[in-house]
Amino acid sequence: MRLLLVEDHVALADELCAGLKQLGYAVDWLTDGRDAAYQGAVEPYDLIILDLGLPGLPGLDVLAQWRAALINTPVLVLTARSAWSERIDGLKAGADDYLTKPFHQEELYLRVQALLRRSHGFANQNQLNAAGLRLDEARQVVHSQDQTIELTGAEFRLLRYFMLHTGQVLSKSHLAEHLYDGESERDSNVLEVHVNHLRRKLGRDVIVTHRGQGYCFTGTEAAE
Ligand code: CA
Repeated sequence: MRLLLVEDHVALADELCAGLKQLGYAVDWLTDGRDAAYQGAVEPYDLIILDLGLPGLPGLDVLAQWRAALINTPVLVLTARSAWSERIDGLKAGADDYLTKPFHQEELYLRVQALLRRSHGFANQNQLNAAGLRLDEARQVVHSQDQTIELTGAEFRLLRYFMLHTGQVLSKSHLAEHLYDGESERDSNVLEVHVNHLRRKLGRDVIVTHRGQGYCFTGTEAAE
């Protein structure tokens, strides 16, 4: 999953970037509201974390611009502690969730996970269950029936994306856009290697190749 973090408080942003990367998210970071308004509209983010007090353009205006342009990416807004009216304005402008500063980072991470699940139709789950698999995002392992299967970081990131998009055909370039941040080199051969590793661990049929189109994750249920 690829996230955009818009936060002009550098120390906080550094910590959040590091924490989010540890959780297997690709993160792009911007400090300026105008840059965010543009980049959030052209890059395919899975979720955006948006501070409201920003140089360049206020966060509320950034959000309003995205929604006016029909960008429906889930947005989690960060607001100042006392500004209850900001929270209301944020929700009115189209925020999907908000968090009040100062916050515990753990809470932000749990909200990000929940918002991503919710936006893909897994609203009532506190862990991601899809296609016969249960993903433990905290430990970065996957459970299949009574088995626990260890994953590398790259396999975990890919499997999480697949599970959230079960049954959809995903091209390699689409996967690369959503698994790597804007500065990483996107090598589709590497993706192929990780797909094959997942097949080896979970069963050959969990990921179907559609020639010329991409991969479709069907999970273990279809294979049984
Ligand atoms: Ca700020």
